[in-house]
Formats: sequence, structure tokens, C-alpha cells
Amino acid sequence: MDEVKFCSYCGKLTSSCYSYCPWCGKSLVHKSSVSDALNSSLNKMEKIQMEDRLHELEKLETCLDNLEEEIDAFLSKASS
Ligand SMILES: [Zn+2]
Repeated sequence: MDEVKFCSYCGKLTSSCYSYCPWCGKSLVHKSSVSDALNSSLNKMEKIQMEDRLHELEKLETCLDNLEEEIDAFLSKASS
């Protein structure tokens, strides 16, 4: 289980699996250098956005599956 913590910048709830805040994008780890932190938070941000999109796609896929089932049920009702 990930450790829960609060962002010191925006105060929102985040998880220790993030090295930056998913809400405001500020780094949650001690910065070794500004550019390193910037690069890593940009990479993480891209990764999170990618994961968000994948998650959206998964939801969409589930919706389509449900729709398909409904259509199948409708068609089988209509044909009987
Ligand atoms: Zn924040």
C-alpha cells in the first residue's frame, strides 16, 4: 500500500508513489537541481497523462463491451 501524503504546495492529497504532485505538478521530493527536478516532473507528468488516457480508453472499452452486450440482447429479443 502506498503511503499517503499531502502536497506542501497545494495541500491536496497525494501518494508516496508520486515524486511530484499530480494536482499542481510541483516536485514532492527534495530537489537535487532545478533542471533535474523539472525534467523528472515533466517525464512523470507525461507518464501520468499517458496512464490517464489508458485509463480513459479502458473505461471506453468497458462501455463498448456493455453496449455490445445490450445490442446482442436486443437483437436476440427481436429475433425470437
Ligand atoms: Zn500540489
